[in-house]
Amino acid sequence: MNQVSIIGLGPMGRAMASAYLDAGYAVTVWNRSPGKDAALLARGARRAGSAAEAVAASRLSIVSLIDVDAVYTALGEADLDGRVLANLSSDVPEKARAAAEWARGRGASYLTGGVNVPPTGIGQEGASIFISGPAEVYEEQRAALDVLAATDYRGADPGHAQLYYQLNMIMFWTAYTGWYQAVAVARANGLTAADILPYAGYTADSMRGFYEGSAPLADADDHDGTHARLAMCAASLEHVLHTAADSGVDTGILAAHAELYRRGVDAGFGADGTARLIGLLGAPETA
Ligand code: NDP
Repeated sequence: MNQVSIIGLGPMGRAMASAYLDAGYAVTVWNRSPGKDAALLARGARRAGSAAEAVAASRLSIVSLIDVDAVYTALGEADLDGRVLANLSSDVPEKARAAAEWARGRGASYLTGGVNVPPTGIGQEGASIFISGPAEVYEEQRAALDVLAATDYRGADPGHAQLYYQLNMIMFWTAYTGWYQAVAVARANGLTAADILPYAGYTADSMRGFYEGSAPLADADDHDGTHARLAMCAASLEHVLHTAADSGVDTGILAAHAELYRRGVDAGFGADGTARLIGLLGAPETA
């Protein structure tokens, strides 16, 4: 019987444990605070008395904690020799690299993962998960990890899965916060989230075209402003900013956006395209 241990039973860890139970694995679970494993135990999971005991129960341990520091806290005393840790907790790439080094020094193999779906997406069609770390360890554990979500191997660098994940999160959080900003302005004007949902869907769908159109321009440092000038975008952002201000809602996020575009115009890039923003954000030009 396939075996796996799950360290951390937040919503994500619970969904992962559940997916392994569905797939017929023998599942050992551990969580720092009690009470989160009841439904899993009822389905046949086994509770470990400590994180060390959980790691000892299976060659593969899936770690789903708040961050890398929690991994050190939870597994500081554990014997990791000969074990495989797949750390699917979010954190910065440098911390993922340090954790891989830490685990290697204790005799463990280590994979980093970034999960691209919420807990409800675990085990579902279309779910994906970035994985990086030693190729042979990935190949050994690939079938087990694919139970959670289709794995997208991003190479040997243990920081890379987190880098790709955090890049996705940059896009996700700015878009999601933008949605709540729009809902706040809508509400201040007597509209509901439901009222604007159809248009949010349209905007979200249209973003793919914007990304696909701008990626070649960005990579070529092509600042052609034929279709959309930075000065026009800056003016549009002023309208957005003042609509929010006139509505009496917080403008901090929008002010930061408007300031970036204004800075571009002030620097003399008003007639250029929006790929200018990449340099304005401090990124080096492409080689
Ligand atoms: P939660 O914050 O709900 O759960 C965090 C888990 O970490 C809990 O089991 C908690 O234990 C444990 N924990 C926190 N601090 C410590 C510590 N010092 N020592 C030991 N255990 C600790 O997170 P989720 O389950 O939602 O997510 C888990 C990971 O997955 C996160 O890194 C998150 O960014 C990532 N993720 C989550 C997604 C989501 O939609 N939920 C989507 C994609 C990735 P306790 O119960 O005792 O507090």
